[in-house]
Amino acid sequence: MIEIPKELLEAVVAHVRREAPNEACGWLAGERNEIRRVYPVPNVAEDPRVEFRMDPEIQLSTMREIRESGLELTGTYHSHPRTSAVPSARDGGLAAYPEAVHLIISLATPEPEVRCYRVEEPFDTVELTVRLPVQLHPGGNCCRLAEKSGEFPG
Ligand SMILES: [Zn+2]
Repeated sequence: MIEIPKELLEAVVAHVRREAPNEACGWLAGERNEIRRVYPVPNVAEDPRVEFRMDPEIQLSTMREIRESGLELTGTYHSHPRTSAVPSARDGGLAAYPEAVHLIISLATPEPEVRCYRVEEPFDTVELTVRLPVQLHPGGNCCRLAEKSGEFPG
């Protein structure tokens, strides 16, 4: 199970809302299964409205900063400004980080929808616990990514 504190998820949602209608992206750093810090990374995709590509230099410096801070690279996040929080064909690149979890934040509905994915491993799925009034939907497998979302306790 992955836990993300309410204020960090709010920071993620605020970041992706700020960048809309472009997709926004970043890294999540944590300790054990709890996300402790959020690192926005500029999206330098050719068409940032439909895909994301993390700025390579900032991505590297972010990953270094996370390691130096003693935290782990828990996962990534990115937004889907107009579509659901389901991995798109372009999100196959997330498989490059098999140990990370991947949050997708959809802004297609009035309330942001957040889903959590991990590259599929038969006995290793991810549950996400969120404490924020966002909709957290269970979903199916997609794009070689497996999802298992946790409950939203209110
Ligand atoms: Zn995507």
